[in-house]
Amino acid sequence: MLDIKDVLLTENGKSSYKTDMERTSLSYRTGDFPVEGHPVIEVTVENKGDRKFRLSGCTAPVIRIPCARCLKPVLYRLDVRFDFETDPDETTYIDGYYLDVDQLIHDEALLVWPERVLCREDCKGLCSVCGHDLNDGPCGCEHTQADPRMAKILDIFNNFKEV
Ligand SMILES: [Zn+2]
Ligand SMILES: [Zn+2]
Repeated sequence: MLDIKDVLLTENGKSSYKTDMERTSLSYRTGDFPVEGHPVIEVTVENKGDRKFRLSGCTAPVIRIPCARCLKPVLYRLDVRFDFETDPDETTYIDGYYLDVDQLIHDEALLVWPERVLCREDCKGLCSVCGHDLNDGPCGCEHTQADPRMAKILDIFNNFKEV
């Protein structure tokens, strides 16, 4: 929580803050994803008068997310930017004299969440029979000629299953 009392009480005031993200994971549809370290959050609060506040800023948290094909953890940088106006009565981000920066960043991060992440463009994925990571070489199962086209088809199939 960030103390923004000064700007809340100063009509036409404007303050910029730098703070560290405290939460250690972000929750998306498919689960919780660890955040590396404590990314710096830059946030500017502008008191526009009439209980209107403009919140703007950015941060770039690096999350650990499994490769869509082989499930190996991949580090992925989210580019989170926000700029909107709000009213303390209608937002849950402003609580008393505090701004819940982590919750704000969490919600904004979901808007730029990647559709899927691959450890590399030509990741061969896992053998559907024995689960062997085909990036480490063939496993000996009959159909496991590593074919990137097949991996793509499996992706589509897997995505379809999730819906
Ligand atoms: Zn992979
Ligand atoms: Zn196999």
